[in-house]
Amino acid sequence: MNPAGRQVAGEVCNDCLVGFGVERIRQDFPALQVRVHGKPLVYLDNAATSQKPQVVIDRITRYYLSENSNIHRGVHFLSDLATQAYESTRDRVRQFLNAAHDREIIFTRGTTEGINLVAHSFGRSRVRAGDEIVISAMEHHSNIVPWQILCEEKGATLRVIPVNDAGELLLEEYERLLCDRTRLVAVTYVSNALGTVNPIKPMIATAHRRGIPVLVDGAQAAPHLAVDVQELDCDFYAFSGHKLCGPTGIGILYGKADLLESMPPYQGGGDMISAVTFEKTIYNSLPYKFEAGTPHIAGVIGLGAALEYVQRIGLPRIAAYEADLLAYGTELLSAIPGLRIIGTAREKASVLSFVLDGIHAHDVGTILDHEGIAIRAGHHCAMPVMKRFGVSATARASLAFYNTREELEALAKGLHKVIEVFA
Ligand code: PMP
Repeated sequence: MNPAGRQVAGEVCNDCLVGFGVERIRQDFPALQVRVHGKPLVYLDNAATSQKPQVVIDRITRYYLSENSNIHRGVHFLSDLATQAYESTRDRVRQFLNAAHDREIIFTRGTTEGINLVAHSFGRSRVRAGDEIVISAMEHHSNIVPWQILCEEKGATLRVIPVNDAGELLLEEYERLLCDRTRLVAVTYVSNALGTVNPIKPMIATAHRRGIPVLVDGAQAAPHLAVDVQELDCDFYAFSGHKLCGPTGIGILYGKADLLESMPPYQGGGDMISAVTFEKTIYNSLPYKFEAGTPHIAGVIGLGAALEYVQRIGLPRIAAYEADLLAYGTELLSAIPGLRIIGTAREKASVLSFVLDGIHAHDVGTILDHEGIAIRAGHHCAMPVMKRFGVSATARASLAFYNTREELEALAKGLHKVIEVFA
């Protein structure tokens, strides 16, 4: 609040939460109206993928109905229309991340492809035998395996920042891992398995003091936290559209322009080319150098509509509303006998991962499904962190801004049923 008591842009007050209008927001999502096994759907699998609002579905339909054309090379009306819609999304993403330039925004298939792009292009040109890459113990496989492949190929070593029992990174250990051989730090902003929000801004500053660039896996942060890549000063930031109300198969890699300029192409063909002879190819300028072949045009346009939708609600309001939901869910689940929450960091977003004494996570998921409640059960593509916590799988409820306290009460009730079945 400013001194006059008026709310200023980006500020969140309790009144905003009261007026969040979740019931109105829910009407924007057709899939939330679905009934499962005769019960209203309680969708708590948002870390896997979010539901899509009607405006996104409509925007994709409109593209295919009346704008469908290939982009960039066309001289005709529809191609121009599609190109404008595609490129205006790039600018919307730039605003969303507060990147300095549109050419720093690369369209990819998703977080996984963004990380692989950096591992192939930056990694293969910069990493030599004896070098090191630093990741964390809570990474998704998508931010482990590309670095493992690179290390294997180059004779480099993967170093891992350990976590404490709450699921927080040990920052002193992190500092100790960084050395003259470290070529890159690749770390997640928010853990999909634990919900931990890592202190990436100071972690980036620590790496930069040693001249080490940092890639941030933003897959789980993008739907929940407002991000400013210039303020974070990260070198690369990858996220997926489908976790943020957008379509599948589309994602973003942000990279600082000077780094991207210095990197070789990832794939060859199509838009990444300026001129080709059999002797030599001249590559296109950024961002096209990294966008080979016909892209997912409908996906990009749909992502633009999704970002517009989310920005209209506002990530600061979303974060405040979800923090309240997460606290309520934690309280409800903590009261269930035999339930242990995996991931109890002080800073968390969206994720409630847990195990029930003597009951396999898949059984928890299956019984909840009969109640219309969708959660995820398994290792969440983060097997090393499961091992760190001594479990092979967890049940995971993950929240979005369209979830409600009543849905969390339904989850708690469902879990009591699960316990009864196994009693
Ligand atoms: N990193 C994290 C932290 C994730 O949660 C996910 C998706 N579960 C990914 C990377 C991979 O995202 P995608 O499958 O959309 O490429």
